[in-house]
Amino acid sequence: MAETYDIGLGNTDLETRKQADSDFVSFWDTQAKNLSWFSSWDKTLDWKPPFARWFVGGTINASFNTLDVHQGAKSEKTAIFWEGENGESRVISYGELFLKVKKFSNVLKSLDVKKGDRITIYLPMVPELIIAMLACARIGATHTVVFSGFSSTSIKDRIYDSKSEIIITADGGFRRGKIVELKNVIDDAITDLDFVKHVIVLERTKTPITLTLKDKLWSDLMDIASDVCDAEPLPSDHPLYILYTSGTTGKPKGVLHGTGGYLTHLYSTFKWAFDIKDSDVFFCTADIGWVTGHSYVAYAPFLHGATQVMYEGAPDFPDASRMWDILQKYGVTIFYTTPTALRMFMKFGDDIPNSFDLSTLRLLGTVGEPINPEVWRWYFKTIGKEKCPIIDTWWQTETGGMLISPLPGLETIPLKPGSGTLPIPGVNISVVDENGEDVLPNTKGYLVVKNPWPGMLLTLWGDDEKYQKVYWSKYTNCYYPGDYAKKDHDGYLWLLGRADDVLKVAGHRIGTAELESCIVSHGDVAESAVCGVPDELKGEVVIAFVVLKHNVTTPNDDLEKQLLTKIRNDVGAIATPKQICFVSKLPKTRSGKIMRRLLKSIANNEKIGDTSTLEDGAAVSEVQSVFDDISKSLKKN
Ligand code: ATP
Ligand code: MG
Repeated sequence: MAETYDIGLGNTDLETRKQADSDFVSFWDTQAKNLSWFSSWDKTLDWKPPFARWFVGGTINASFNTLDVHQGAKSEKTAIFWEGENGESRVISYGELFLKVKKFSNVLKSLDVKKGDRITIYLPMVPELIIAMLACARIGATHTVVFSGFSSTSIKDRIYDSKSEIIITADGGFRRGKIVELKNVIDDAITDLDFVKHVIVLERTKTPITLTLKDKLWSDLMDIASDVCDAEPLPSDHPLYILYTSGTTGKPKGVLHGTGGYLTHLYSTFKWAFDIKDSDVFFCTADIGWVTGHSYVAYAPFLHGATQVMYEGAPDFPDASRMWDILQKYGVTIFYTTPTALRMFMKFGDDIPNSFDLSTLRLLGTVGEPINPEVWRWYFKTIGKEKCPIIDTWWQTETGGMLISPLPGLETIPLKPGSGTLPIPGVNISVVDENGEDVLPNTKGYLVVKNPWPGMLLTLWGDDEKYQKVYWSKYTNCYYPGDYAKKDHDGYLWLLGRADDVLKVAGHRIGTAELESCIVSHGDVAESAVCGVPDELKGEVVIAFVVLKHNVTTPNDDLEKQLLTKIRNDVGAIATPKQICFVSKLPKTRSGKIMRRLLKSIANNEKIGDTSTLEDGAAVSEVQSVFDDISKSLKKN
């Protein structure tokens, strides 16, 4: 009998799914009417595979739908509780946010920004980042936000690729108590980029900076800007932003999103998944540099006029209690984070969260990677006190918004730790084999999306061909996300890891998530990543990298034996790793995802590919040296 949790929020809307199942196009047509349009559309969906255009002929503006619509009734309502890393705080109402966005829109206009121009934003997690994005949206400029932890080479590539003539940055940003000198990084990045005309500099850290002829201070420009600026009516498919993917599987891809479809997707999923109410305090820990921060920080909460917490710094700064402290301080009711953050919190034990009052929480969410059932249970018990549903939301930069998730704002269904449960209404998802045939229940295969959805990317920036090749060439007219999954007898979906990372041992296909979750369920283990290396006999054998919990001292043979036994019993002898390597950290992207392809390259003695989104190079060196030691000792034996 599968482990299930019958916990919901009392919502039982059966109509929505029924409507969606009967006709997904007219279903989304109805959903789109939740937004404010300047003019209605003539055609709900124009589908010329692989290009989908939603609400064709309609005109809309993202800034209008997040700000103008709330003025009056919600002008005084808090839009953002901002918490600085050093403990500073700012409270920003919908009225104030509106005013600042209009002023900054005029700043951009004064610099001759036109509709469709790209603007690169390289700012820390401060409210001005949101102001800049919504101002771009207001006048129809296409923003391209680059995570403020990136180096000058990474940012240069992105500025060059998007041909942004205007950059918005800050003197510096605070990260783990230190100042990251962002302006210097930009100076380096644009040395040879003559097409860059202006750099707008926000003074955040008051670090001394040298201003060049291109530079203008944010405060100087805002001081003289008018606060009258109407939102521009834009075609529904007007490009709202370009955002580069996390780079977990290779070189980041520049994903281009539109406006009307994207906003419709966000409005509906935010309501269904988070059950958002006027009284809620929402807190998503994602940096705006990633898609979660775009969709569920910068846009969706404001579409609903919700109050949210925005945090500037590292989740464990100055110590591992910081998140729980923020939750308690602001009375957070809905908390949305990542499995990697949860594994880190778990590593520090229960006493820390237990010493905070987390009783305001009513809903918990995760995104970004498969959540190991062990971690799910910990989240449910220790953080949610067994009273909050957990939504495990599967989606990608490309999908724009959630495609698979429990939807407690809509319906109450049993939850299963480790399963994202069902697709959202209006989206047809299957698990198929190499030939595109549906596989039997509980059989592993590739996840595919069989119809277009409104949050779907328009294309890859400047590269329609690559867009077609990456997502639409493996199966005819089916979107291929590149993830491995299975569907159980209840139709619940289980994400098993990246299709590229699948292990093929003696003819059996094993998803990385299954094996890693088994290892993580050992009480001493905090994190794990597995990869395959070629083997003459078996095709491939498994190597497991394991990070232990804080209170566990040096690994011993006993622990290794226990892990091997556990894997044999829980997954099967076939999955038994050839080697278990204990390391202190795993290589991750800056968005917190494990980069198994780097482990694979090391274990296979291959050249390491694109590392531009790697968080900490030391993790790679450590894995390399541990692996070399083990290989040497194996050779001796
Ligand atoms: P790149 O495409 O450059 O390799 P990336 O895929 O990591 O980077 P994102 O768009 O940030 O970039 O991440 C989307 C991926 O994250 C999904 O394809 C999936 O592998 C993983 N993912 C996201 N949410 C979940 C989830 N709830 N369960 C399992 N996997 C998830
Ligand atoms: Mg991806």
